[in-house]
Amino acid sequence: MNEIPEPGRATMLLRGCTRRCPRCGSGRLFHRWFVMVEECSGCGLHFEREPGYWVGAMAMNIIAVGGIFAVVFVTLLALTLPDIPVIPLLATLVPIAALGPIALYPFSKTLWSRGGPRLPARPGRPRARGRPISPSISGPGGTLT
Ligand SMILES: [Zn+2]
Repeated sequence: MNEIPEPGRATMLLRGCTRRCPRCGSGRLFHRWFVMVEECSGCGLHFEREPGYWVGAMAMNIIAVGGIFAVVFVTLLALTLPDIPVIPLLATLVPIAALGPIALYPFSKTLWSRGGPRLPARPGRPRARGRPISPSISGPGGTLT
């Protein structure tokens, strides 16, 4: 069996930030901006491990956009006080709030695909290649085996 070594957290984070498979680093995970492949063609990693798995990616997306929004908002306020230009401020912040989730969508999915909870591969489905996923799940309450 051709096993791929598990990369470190920093490597997985970097790969997720560049829309690549966090495990093997291969690209082409998206057919279009919003359509992600089900499995990595390089290592066979199945991305949606259970129904609702992408809720974490959406939460990460919202938190990231909220953080960018807050930083820009506070920076613009600090730079323009006491005469706050409301219209330019809105012209900057509304596009961030409206387009930010769209712009970060694929990145949040690739980041979450390995940064989220580590679950076993789909039961009954052999893995094409890659390292077998441990059947144990670690969480704040301990480790399930
Ligand atoms: Zn892969």
